[in-house]
Amino acid sequence: MIEFTDVVKSYEQGNKALNGVSMQIEDGEFVFLVGPSGSGKSTIIKLITGELKPTSGTVHVNGYSLERIRKREIPFLRRTVGVVFQDFRLIDNMTVYENVAFAMRVIGAKESEIKERVPYVLDLVGLENKTNRRPGELSGGEQQRLAIARALVNNPSTIIADEPTGNLDPARALEIMELLQEINNLGTTLLVVTHAQNLVNQFGNRVISLDEGLIVSDGLEEEAINEAQ
Ligand code: ADP
Repeated sequence: MIEFTDVVKSYEQGNKALNGVSMQIEDGEFVFLVGPSGSGKSTIIKLITGELKPTSGTVHVNGYSLERIRKREIPFLRRTVGVVFQDFRLIDNMTVYENVAFAMRVIGAKESEIKERVPYVLDLVGLENKTNRRPGELSGGEQQRLAIARALVNNPSTIIADEPTGNLDPARALEIMELLQEINNLGTTLLVVTHAQNLVNQFGNRVISLDEGLIVSDGLEEEAINEAQ
């Protein structure tokens, strides 16, 4: 579960990125986080992953209290939260298989576990026939699938995807959203940051809208539209 209570985040220069955000995301939910550039979306992601601490208020993520988490606990928190970065952060000189296996190796997984799990997640994201390619030999949509596979491989309870359809054509974007929906159907909590209003409308999931560091609506898309009217 993710729970923000009265979260304020000011950056050193005095920039207030979040002005008192409260929200709760239950296990198993699929939530879209939308808002214009500068509204605080990345700050929310960084607070969830422990990259930033709140200036005031509390952030609870999967049993960890982030306002007072110790440095040595952060790797354990991060095993519960898989992040799909906007710029993918793939390792160019490793194959598809190795990119995913590496994420398991760094947390000390056994080779037998890696051999079982990596093919499973590559199959889930539809890259089973590309295991020996390198990221540079994949399309944008395939690179996105690889980034999703890597975020999934250590079986986190939560996945955060930052603009997962940002650079894709509409057909590929829809496929990626469908894949994320499928992953959610298998039980993983999904928080998807997106500008793709058309996809948000199509999926009918909960939408949290941010503006200038405040939540301006939170609910199913239809309710959010009604509230705005
Ligand atoms: P979004 O992801 O919605 O574009 P951000 O969370 O990146 O928004 O930014 C929210 C606000 O915080 C913006 O006004 C931005 O300029 C400011 N901000 C973000 N990161 C920093 C930083 N490292 N230092 C100072 N201000 C920052």
